[in-house]
Amino acid sequence: MPVSLFDTATPLAPLQAELRAAVERVLESGRYILGPEVSAFEGEFADYVGAAHAIGVANGTDALTIALQAMGVGRGDEVVVPSFSFYASAEAIAPTGASVVFCDIDPDTFCVTAETVRAALTPRTKAVIAVHLFGNVAPVAEIEALGVPVLEDAAQAAGSRGQYGRPGALGTAATFSFYPSKNLGAFGDAGAITTNDAALAERVRALRFHGSTDKQTFEQLGYNSRLDELQAAILRVQLPHLERWADGRRRAAHRYDASALAELCSLPRATDGSDPAWHLYVIRSGRADELEKALRASGIEARAYYRVPIHRQPAMLADLTLPGTDEAARTNLALPISPVLSETQVGEVVAAISAVLGP
Ligand SMILES: *Cc1c(COP(=O)(O)O)cnc(C)c1O
Repeated sequence: MPVSLFDTATPLAPLQAELRAAVERVLESGRYILGPEVSAFEGEFADYVGAAHAIGVANGTDALTIALQAMGVGRGDEVVVPSFSFYASAEAIAPTGASVVFCDIDPDTFCVTAETVRAALTPRTKAVIAVHLFGNVAPVAEIEALGVPVLEDAAQAAGSRGQYGRPGALGTAATFSFYPSKNLGAFGDAGAITTNDAALAERVRALRFHGSTDKQTFEQLGYNSRLDELQAAILRVQLPHLERWADGRRRAAHRYDASALAELCSLPRATDGSDPAWHLYVIRSGRADELEKALRASGIEARAYYRVPIHRQPAMLADLTLPGTDEAARTNLALPISPVLSETQVGEVVAAISAVLGP
């Protein structure tokens, strides 16, 4: 049987009636921008994450830019970000006027470490973007102990648990994407910023509405970046199921962990004390490209991520040596994972990989 990389449809199928009712409720309300659905979702999502404030915005990329600006990042500052991430993690720095400084990752966890961040710090460093890549939880407390504020890029980590709490409640602020394929997905673009800092939350609220708090006075240059009522209503139907879905992802990952795969390739390692809701289950092999082709030929969808890391992208070229990044970029391959990936499906994937890499 074919196994796809994601399965967003099966978990949503039992919620169809509730989702349609939510959409209808918004259509009938006549309120489409910054109304009761967005306020309610912001409260519910903040509670889930364990942060004092959540602010809905248009997408996860805007969330990063707005959060950085609210943290005081601007021209003349530097922001440290891993090169091994989705391109937006670095791209979002540019509108603030600050410079991008790339750091390395630990290829075993795919996350930054205090050591890789320390190597990139300068007196001009204003913030570090710690990406919770693939749902793994970056060591935020260890990085803040270096004396630099951390913005968590938690786009891939909704539902994960870290040693000191959930992504979203670990740093100075955090950002989420609700792009449809993420762990919590809207039916279009959507995002949020979470923080425990009330003043920072207020600055974010102003920045998402053109830099104004009263819609009359425009104190600073901001953005038009709001979460839609429709998307908020859709997210509110799904949020109560996120924990169960996250547990399904954990279960699938633990099955891969305990399988014969460990002898055939490198498996992703959860960071100390974390229990990731793996958004992607990413192995490493020197034969990743050959393996991807063979898996696809047997109906199993596997995909390499970020083969060209951000510091080698044409818009971002930086002459740097980042060995962990290069190793992850060259050898990674994401295997199918979802909240409903069954034991049988895990077995099929493992058998197909064994047929290629086994003795
Ligand atoms: C998806 C993603 C983003 C961007 O989110 P959008 O909602 O697509 O703008 C940023 N960072 C990471 C790590 C992501 O995976």
